[in-house]
Amino acid sequence: MKALLLSEYNKLEVTDIVGPMPGPEELLIQVAACGICGSDVHGYDGSTGRRIPPIVMGHEAAGTVVAVGSAADGFSPGDRVTFDSTVYCGACDFCRAGDINLCNNRQVIGVSCGEYSRAGAFAEFLTVPARVAYHLPDELSFPEAAMLEAVSVALHGVKVAEMKGDETVLVIGAGMIGLLLLQSARSRGVNATRVFVADVDPTRLKLANSMGAEATFLASGQALTDEVMKRTQGRGVDIVLEAVGHNETIATAIDCVRKGGTVVLVGNISPQVNLPLQKVVSRQIRLQGSCASAGEYPEAMRLMAAGKINVASLITAVAPLADGPSWFERLHAREPNLMKIILDPRPKAMESL
Ligand SMILES: [Zn+2]
Ligand SMILES: [Zn+2]
Repeated sequence: MKALLLSEYNKLEVTDIVGPMPGPEELLIQVAACGICGSDVHGYDGSTGRRIPPIVMGHEAAGTVVAVGSAADGFSPGDRVTFDSTVYCGACDFCRAGDINLCNNRQVIGVSCGEYSRAGAFAEFLTVPARVAYHLPDELSFPEAAMLEAVSVALHGVKVAEMKGDETVLVIGAGMIGLLLLQSARSRGVNATRVFVADVDPTRLKLANSMGAEATFLASGQALTDEVMKRTQGRGVDIVLEAVGHNETIATAIDCVRKGGTVVLVGNISPQVNLPLQKVVSRQIRLQGSCASAGEYPEAMRLMAAGKINVASLITAVAPLADGPSWFERLHAREPNLMKIILDPRPKAMESL
């Protein structure tokens, strides 16, 4: 089968490799769409150590079931499916508590990190355990389904914020996840929930406006704090959803939240930041990390199928697998205005199916 192989760091090639066979509990899936994740781009050059070559990357995918393992229930050849990018064990304490994102034996599809290596979906076929697969509703196209991981991550960030409704929320960072956090907060909160969005890129803020932001701020640091205080009568917002993860944006998040409020930390570009400890303690701020997702896929599918979360405007291009190497280069070079790039590994004749 054709696959986009990371043969060495910074070197991707479309090549023929031996296709996988499904184990008893697995599904063999023909991939119809697989999104390029930021983590793939960061792994591609070796900076994260999570894509050790040789590896076929890709974990944001959807496709059609081709074969079903003897012990895999609930699926038949021809079914349109997607799957959770996290392969969890289902047996550890965390899995039993429903925190599958914290599984002790967690593996991510399309990752190779020294502890394990698991082939991903930038290929014509891949196998996944049936327990992480989901039937796709008819309303969702394959490219839209490739956005489910990102939507689930955003829904999880909003879930751990423990919104009660009627809150003011600030999203810092209007990239892919930030814009989905905005839509998730609006779909999870009650109607009165107001969501502000801040970024330093006006094009992204335009998207935020079209996705229901109450107001957008082209500002950072003290200027952003001033704007937020003006809009909240000097009180600060109830919840900040931080989707960047730099020193400055974390400090601003803490400045913008009200006393007793919550800052959800989703972005983590910097492995370490300075913590304004006294502000956090004396204003009793809750800092809440949010990692991946934990069972939000069905809700993400429901909200997208119902049109409550819209991803179409976040998809920059759907391209054949052969274009994968050049798209990785462009993403790695941080070309402006690129959101999600989705690769379709199917032979040309099947692409319209
Ligand atoms: Zn991803
Ligand atoms: Zn587990």
